[in-house]
Amino acid sequence: MAADDIPNAALPAHSVAEAYLYIQFASCGKCGKSPLQADGQLTRGKQFFELAARCQSCRDATMLAFDIRPEPSRQSAQSKVINATSEPSQLIDIHCWLAMFQQIISASGREQEAGASRELVEEAAACLDEALKFYRDDSEIPPPEAFFTETGRAAFRKSPERYIRATWMRRRLQLPVAPPALPTAAAAGKRWWQFWR
Ligand SMILES: [Zn+2]
Repeated sequence: MAADDIPNAALPAHSVAEAYLYIQFASCGKCGKSPLQADGQLTRGKQFFELAARCQSCRDATMLAFDIRPEPSRQSAQSKVINATSEPSQLIDIHCWLAMFQQIISASGREQEAGASRELVEEAAACLDEALKFYRDDSEIPPPEAFFTETGRAAFRKSPERYIRATWMRRRLQLPVAPPALPTAAAAGKRWWQFWR
């Protein structure tokens, strides 16, 4: 069960930026469709950060509560850094991060203005970095818990080869943006397809 199925449960986020990104993937509690849209600003509630959101399909209004750690400061709340820790996201799964990476990187290729294009490449790199955080130790494939939705799991079952870590690591190293500390390289000789099921 997703955290947003539990009434009043706070969603674990690593930053304000991640909380805002999440609503693009969250599905509506009423009609089940996504995305939601922020309806105002994130505010500090009694216990958690709160963000009013509205379903773009049925317009149902909802209040999302986020447990943001590390606690955001005024400065970090303005920052584009999605997750300064090495922990993988608990809100957005690997499938969504990779999809976002591909969308943003193609947008950067179409962008005529150099500054804007570079900014898009930086955003794409940040998404790819989040995807790479899901791989554990020396495994070439993501663990089952890297997929939060049936859409993601189905995509993996259909094309597991698409999720091989080495492919995305290579792609990451081609980007002209300094990577954070990267996960260790895969151990040779492991057969990645045996890990799933
Ligand atoms: Zn709806």
